Amino acid sequence: VYAQMKRDTLVFDIIQKEHERQLGGIELIASENFVSNQVLEAMGSVMTNKYAEGYPGRRYYGGCQFVDMTEQLAIDRIKELYGAEWANVQPHSGAQANAAVLSVILKPGDTFLGLDLSHGGHLSHGSLVNSSGILYKPVAYRVKEDTGLVDYDEMEALALEHKPKLIIGGASAYSREWDYKRMREIADKVGALMMIDMAHPAGLIAAELLNNPVKYAHVVTSTTHKTLRGPRGGIILMGKDFENPWGIKTPKGVVRTMSSLFDSAVFPGQQGGPLEHVIAAKAVAFGEALAPEFKDYQKQVKKNAQTMAKAFIDLGYNVVSGGTDNHSMLIDLRSKFPEITGKQVENTLVQAHITANKNMVPFDSRSPFQTSGLRVGTPAITTRGLKEDLMPVIVQLIDDVISNIEDEKVLKAVGEKVHQMMKDFPLFAY
Ligand code: PLP
Repeated sequence: VYAQMKRDTLVFDIIQKEHERQLGGIELIASENFVSNQVLEAMGSVMTNKYAEGYPGRRYYGGCQFVDMTEQLAIDRIKELYGAEWANVQPHSGAQANAAVLSVILKPGDTFLGLDLSHGGHLSHGSLVNSSGILYKPVAYRVKEDTGLVDYDEMEALALEHKPKLIIGGASAYSREWDYKRMREIADKVGALMMIDMAHPAGLIAAELLNNPVKYAHVVTSTTHKTLRGPRGGIILMGKDFENPWGIKTPKGVVRTMSSLFDSAVFPGQQGGPLEHVIAAKAVAFGEALAPEFKDYQKQVKKNAQTMAKAFIDLGYNVVSGGTDNHSMLIDLRSKFPEITGKQVENTLVQAHITANKNMVPFDSRSPFQTSGLRVGTPAITTRGLKEDLMPVIVQLIDDVISNIEDEKVLKAVGEKVHQMMKDFPLFAY
């Protein structure tokens, strides 16, 4: 049998090291999580062998009867989770889901509004190094300097001035609830469509701990691997399908709906064969998110984040916007350590087996390579079972590292404490 090859120990030894790294450390990257055994199992399954261009019931390949079933399950479950009328579960990533949506709503050169990258927005919301900023004309709204909250008045003024065809909400580093109702009013006022990228808080939204953008936006995108705790990937949802405003027709002269345009934009517009092993894992994860225990998990994610934010504030750190409504927070290091960059902190924390990421803070005086901020989040440590009592302990360890950033002895001691602490919270076995 040609597929039974000699085991590739080179690769599997590295995977084992990564497993140990994940087991031994405190994972605070706000966009990461640990999936369940059954999600891993579905991802590592024979579904990876199957070509299935097209959609369930209308494929370009034979033998799709079983991948049709798992893909349909993923669609049905995600629709139930968010109360959506339509879903596409094929985008390989969040960035690809966003690119597909933009390719339907915008023509090259068209104007849209998105949150400034340095104020918490995502690359795919208009950064000049991403296709969203290369193909289209992004105009950025920002957060207010005094409150750290999205400036909806500025959003409205920019919308009235630039008449965008699309307004994007959602962010990568924003710890507060969004005013979707106000955004929809602004969009309606200027005749724009509204897209919300809920990638970060998707799990909290599924657990009804935050407002559901599917009720307000024309279209919602997300990743599936952050708070939602599924495999890496993207999705597109609509609360209600509608006829495209541009009168685009099928070759037979029927006006196409937005769902049909988004489907075509994902495949064949952006992608070829869907990752059916990942889609099967999405189905499993969406099933887990529908279970009552998922709500308890998300409540703990939020409680841990709020306790952690308070612990940072108590130690004299400036938490942007003064706290968090979700799973994440952004620490502006400048108030306590004006000389230390986010990059230095990120690198030094790794030495103490703590992972978090440097991030620009609003009105940052440093470049995106240095930054003055640190983004932290609680989805991953909460999955491992850490509760709010340990949040101040973790914050103290972080403070010990930053306060002694060049003291190798302290870094080593903190690293040992981290290893010791995480022994009590075993990660799922492979
Ligand atoms: N949208 C938001 C808000 C994100 O934070 C991210 C990733 O961090 C993405 C999209 C992109 O997702 P992916 O990395 O799957 O392309």
